[in-house]
Amino acid sequence: MTQTPILCGNPLAQYQAHRADIGAAIQRVLDSGRYVLGPETTAFEKEFAAWLGAGHGVGVGNGTEALHLALRACGIGQQPGDEVITVSHTAVATAAGIDLAGAKPVFCDVEESSFTLDPALLERCITPRTRAVIAVHLYGQAADMDPILDIANRHGLTVIEDCAQGHGARYRGRRVGTLGRLACFSFYPTKNLGAIGDGGMVVTSDAELTAKLRLLREYGWAERYVSHGEGWNSRLDELQAAILRAKLPFLDADNAARSAIAARYQAGLRLDGLVLPAVRAGNEHVHHLYVVRHARRDELLAHLQKNGVAAGVHYPVPVHLQPAYRTGTDLPVTERAAREVLSLPIYPELSAEEQRVVIDAVNAFRGAA
Ligand SMILES: *Cc1c(COP(=O)(O)O)cnc(C)c1O
Repeated sequence: MTQTPILCGNPLAQYQAHRADIGAAIQRVLDSGRYVLGPETTAFEKEFAAWLGAGHGVGVGNGTEALHLALRACGIGQQPGDEVITVSHTAVATAAGIDLAGAKPVFCDVEESSFTLDPALLERCITPRTRAVIAVHLYGQAADMDPILDIANRHGLTVIEDCAQGHGARYRGRRVGTLGRLACFSFYPTKNLGAIGDGGMVVTSDAELTAKLRLLREYGWAERYVSHGEGWNSRLDELQAAILRAKLPFLDADNAARSAIAARYQAGLRLDGLVLPAVRAGNEHVHHLYVVRHARRDELLAHLQKNGVAAGVHYPVPVHLQPAYRTGTDLPVTERAAREVLSLPIYPELSAEEQRVVIDAVNAFRGAA
C-alpha cells in the first residue's frame, strides 16, 4: 500500500476543518499583545464551565498539570506516604500527575467490559494513608461514578475525575467533569477538544479550591510579584485559549460524528473473536478512541498496518508494569487488556470511504488466519 495510512486520530484534519476560525483566533491574539493568562483564557474558562453546566474553570498548562494542581489544592501529597488510588490501564500521565504532587499511586484493576475502575475492587485498595481516588473516564466512557463516590465518601476520600478522554461524556445524564470534587481536562491536540499545542483545565464548583488553584498555577501570586503560598508555573497561553474558544462550539457535533462512526463500525465489523466496545447502561460514550479486543491482537495490528490502517494500542504496557512505576501488584484484567486492545481510527473528519476501508481490512483478517 503506497497511499497514506488512515490514522487513529488526526489533529491536522481537525485543524483543516476549522482553519478559518483558528486562523482568526490566532491573529486576534497576536494583535492583542497579551500572550499568557489574559482575557482569552478567562473567557475560555467561563465558556468551558458553562458548556459543562457546572463549576469554575482554571486553565493550566496541560492535563498532567491539571491532575498535579488538583491534588495540591486539596493538600494531597504533602504528608509523606499519602496514597492516591487510580487505575493502571490509563495514560501514564495519570500516574505522573500523582507523582508530581508527591503522592504514591496505588493501582486498582478495571472492569472487563468498560476498562474503567472496578468499584467492586476499590475498597480493598484503601489503606490508612489513602487520600483520594482518581477515576479515569477512559476512551470516552465514564467510570461507574455512583459506587465510586459512595465508597470514597464513606472513607472520607476526595474524588477527582480524569476527563482527558471524556469531554462531553455523560454518566446517568450528568456530564463527566461535574461528578467529583474536581475534574481535570487535557486539550492535547488529539483529545476530543484539542488545542494546537498543550493545554489543560481543572474544573470544580468549590470556590475556595478555585482560588487556591489560581495561586498554584502561577507562583502562588495573589497579586503580581507577591507569593502567598507555594506555587508553580502552569499557565494556559492565550493562543491556545483562543483556539479552544473557536473549537468549543463544534465539540458536541464532533462527538456526534464520532458516535456515528462508532455505530457504523458496530454494524460493519464481523470478525470471529473480535470484541467490540461496550457502553455501560446509563452512559453516553464520546468515543475518544474506538477500542476493540482480539486474542491475536499483534497479528491483527500488523495485518491492518499492511492494509493502510494505522491502528494503535492504548496502552501496550500497564502503568504498574512500567519501570518507573513497577509495584509488584497483580492486576489480571488490566494485564489481559494490555495484550488484547486495539484502537481503530476514529475522528470527526474520518470519511465514509475511509471507514469502509477500516471495516473491510478488519473483516479480511479472517482470510489471513
Ligand atoms: C492525555 C491524558 C492525560 C494528560 O494530558 P496531557 O495534556 O498530555 O498532560 C491524562 N490522563 C489521560 C487519561 C489522558 O489520556
